Amino acid sequence: MASSLAELAVQAASCTNCPLAQTRTNVVFGAGDPDAPLMIVGEAPGKDEDERGEPFVGRSGKLLDQVMLEELGVTRERVFIGNTLLCRPPGNRDPLPDEIAACNPWLEAKLDAIGPKVVITLGNFATKLLLFGDPKAKEGITKLRGKTYPWRHGAVLVPTYHPSAVLRSGGGQPLAEMRADFVRAKRALADAGVTL
Ligand code: URA
Repeated sequence: MASSLAELAVQAASCTNCPLAQTRTNVVFGAGDPDAPLMIVGEAPGKDEDERGEPFVGRSGKLLDQVMLEELGVTRERVFIGNTLLCRPPGNRDPLPDEIAACNPWLEAKLDAIGPKVVITLGNFATKLLLFGDPKAKEGITKLRGKTYPWRHGAVLVPTYHPSAVLRSGGGQPLAEMRADFVRAKRALADAGVTL
């Protein structure tokens, strides 16, 4: 039988699947509604997330909260937010392919347990992993975003920019495009009969 999300969180807390176990402060399992119709998948915990054990609690998280509230009308309790990695890569470097592969069973187990109708992927790593099964796939987020993709079990995948990239760009067009992608996710949820 599939593990419940709470059981998975307990198991993940002592994960040693990759060397990041030695440098992390906390495993960041993810947080939110265990029955969320919408799951949001980011890249990896940063410094703030590593210290608090919660996803997206720094500056990127503030932007994510704002876009969720303004475009979807929800706070993070109504969705589930996770990452491709449970643990912080030192110095916030990019996740390594081996780390993503070692961590992937946790992401898959969460997706199985939650069974979201819509998945928003933030940035290149989550998008390429969940769309192609290959975090090093050639096509990048700029080309991949802007549309919805039929995904597993009748669910829909909606790629968008990572909020930290939007912050780095100073908002503007990338922020407008990120907002538009969230509206796409809202429409996909409505098509699946879900009002958040
Ligand atoms: N960036 C991410 O991709 N995930 C977090 O949890 C925080 C910042």
